[in-house]
Amino acid sequence: MANLSEVAIDESKLSDLSEVTATQSEILTPIEQAKTFITLVCFDRFEKPHKKLDGALAIPYDLDSVKSFGDVEENILSRTLPEQWGRIKLGHICYQTSKTMKADHYDLKSDGAIIAFISEIKCKKNLQLCVYQENDEITRASKRIRTLETESDTMNTLNNIKKKLYDNLPSCDIHVQGCLISDNGKHLKLDGDLITLWARAILIKMQGVDELTPPNIPSFDKNKYRYPTSKRSLSEVHSESLIDTTMQSTTNSTVQSVTNSAAISTAARSTLYLTLHTKKKSPLKSNIYITNNMTFQNLLNYVFPNGPPSGKRFIIKSSLEIGGQLFLPDQIINQVFKEAYSHIWIDLEDVEVKLDDLF
Ligand SMILES: [Zn+2]
Repeated sequence: MANLSEVAIDESKLSDLSEVTATQSEILTPIEQAKTFITLVCFDRFEKPHKKLDGALAIPYDLDSVKSFGDVEENILSRTLPEQWGRIKLGHICYQTSKTMKADHYDLKSDGAIIAFISEIKCKKNLQLCVYQENDEITRASKRIRTLETESDTMNTLNNIKKKLYDNLPSCDIHVQGCLISDNGKHLKLDGDLITLWARAILIKMQGVDELTPPNIPSFDKNKYRYPTSKRSLSEVHSESLIDTTMQSTTNSTVQSVTNSAAISTAARSTLYLTLHTKKKSPLKSNIYITNNMTFQNLLNYVFPNGPPSGKRFIIKSSLEIGGQLFLPDQIINQVFKEAYSHIWIDLEDVEVKLDDLF
């Protein structure tokens, strides 16, 4: 079983990479055709007189979903920009409503600029997005362009970075495609697009980004992290990765191996495996086989043979989110969980209750 799931993980990662490659060759999907294309141009600097550089890019935007500067920036950073632009200044995007050299550049970061930008697009045909070259870095940028001479070199470099990113990810039983785990035990599920964004940020040497630190953009924001829910059980995850493998070997990708997943969940239903998590280590122990009369206390004795530190006690919850169920140590585990693969979170709390704080 362990071997089987390892193979499935690798294959799903591979399919991720090939999907991303297809998007980057700028094939228009039906969804992109429905979007509004805005021309992106690059200037040598913001201050006038400035020079417009060769090359332009049509960036598809779904105008209804553009709400912030980050939405505009993220879409630009996920594209392959013309090589002659070199490195562009991050966090500085403007728009102009005329193509003349004297045209004003409106900074998209200023108050109300996004709303103005969206309404201008609808009436001004010549509206363009503008980015600027990173001037202090011109020497370094041109050196880098020489290193990454062709598009395919860039793709190779990008794929190598992605491979390193995947290698560095923490191991997680819940997110087979990879995830990030924060200090408080929340997970950010990573898909191919997020990994590509991260790899691009490394490629353009975005400040503060490396193979362990993702870019400081909305997609990686701390509020996107979630506690893994016990509803999405391990059996579901395993059957999902089996479907991935099946889909790769069939030519018609819409065929889904539904029978496969059904067979697995009924086979596992008669037994219970419990995975333990704590705030800082998730998972702490995976797939503990639970026998009929085992209590939570039995489990705690096994995992923490020395017991809790003095003045503290363990509490057992279905989730660390507000509203997670609390279980008492003497409850019989089998009577609590219906799913074959379930999850509990263990936390510490003070034993002593100050009655003055309550009454
Ligand atoms: Zn995870």
